[in-house]
Amino acid sequence: MIDSLLITGASQLLTLRGRGPRRGAALANLGLIRDGTLLIRDRRIAAVGIRAKVEALPEARSAQKLDVGGRVVLPGFVDSHTHLIHAASRAEEYELKIAGASYQEIARKGGGILNSVKKLRAAAAEALKGRARAALRGFAAHGTTTIEAKSGYGLDVTSELKILRLHRELSAEQPLEISSTFLGAHVVPAEFRSRPDGAAEYVRLLVDRLMPEVAGERLAEFCDVFCDRGAFTREQSREILEAGKRRGLAARIHAEQLTRSGATQLAVKLGAASCDHLEQVNRADIAALGKSNTVATLLPGCDFHLGLKQYAPARSLIEAGAIVGLATDYNPGTSPTLSMAMILSLACSQLRMTPAEGITAATINGAYALRREKEVGSLEVGKLADLAVFDVEDYREIPYYFGVNRCWMTMKSGEVIWKAG
Ligand SMILES: [Zn+2]
Repeated sequence: MIDSLLITGASQLLTLRGRGPRRGAALANLGLIRDGTLLIRDRRIAAVGIRAKVEALPEARSAQKLDVGGRVVLPGFVDSHTHLIHAASRAEEYELKIAGASYQEIARKGGGILNSVKKLRAAAAEALKGRARAALRGFAAHGTTTIEAKSGYGLDVTSELKILRLHRELSAEQPLEISSTFLGAHVVPAEFRSRPDGAAEYVRLLVDRLMPEVAGERLAEFCDVFCDRGAFTREQSREILEAGKRRGLAARIHAEQLTRSGATQLAVKLGAASCDHLEQVNRADIAALGKSNTVATLLPGCDFHLGLKQYAPARSLIEAGAIVGLATDYNPGTSPTLSMAMILSLACSQLRMTPAEGITAATINGAYALRREKEVGSLEVGKLADLAVFDVEDYREIPYYFGVNRCWMTMKSGEVIWKAG
């Protein structure tokens, strides 16, 4: 009894209750309760509903009380696509891009992902961890309570394992939950590029040497591939993701970001958990996602940061019935933000999603993309008490304000992990 906590004073409580994931018109259903109240016990939600009803419970009377002062309460964001572990920013490339260099031109000059690989290989695990810890505090401060994190800046056995082990250590040492993804197939590393069959040899290294270690040590839940020009072909991606599945790593994929590679159709065929980016999808891809259980995860932070004009066709995806998700794609090259609220602002202004659709995409649908929809992503009895409180009266103000952090409090498993001021 002593451990229970009653949260009152929410101008709007967004429960996102109901059967997830959300598609089509259901994306706009936030399960909103005015003056909604939550009772939390032993890390989880014990009751949720209108204030009079929850307050009438005998347990509510003896519970500790927290009044959020007329603010909006929603599930903590589930950020289903991040590249958490990296050694440094790439601000020098940012300036080159502004001067007109393309993403692919920078990559050809040894910049881009390979630049981050060089720095990561040279970095000590403790330094990487310190940087990631600061980022995790930043995620918490912006209302995020669960993240996915990918390897992919190591690209050799030692460095990839170094990253994946850091995911595990960080998950144990700080409050945010980290879902780990093996992205050895980010790009072909420099030392393989000069060899005639370098790409094929690197795929062998991933499948025959790295994957058994990753699966054996249970260092990842998912296997991901960057399937695009300058990275991996559709055929190589299929080989890698199928090998991952055989070892118990569910598939996710970077699809149709720079060019249309056919990765979306592959993702649907393989039953991938998520298919991410989708700027270049065609009508057949949209239709396939609409009929599938693969989440269409959109990453508008990337297009914004790169100054690209072509965003993913969110409205067509929603009309087709796709399970649309949103994530930050936090990474040093193309989307250095950890603010889901900023992603919501972009989703509204650039993808023409409504604020309600955006919030659903960043909570319950994100949870579904990480196969955690039974634990997080909505405020329902039995789920973890993961929530964000925004210093606004109306949820539409969350994306409306941009470039400022209005997150007032964040709670993970019933513990306050961030409080403004
Ligand atoms: Zn990515």
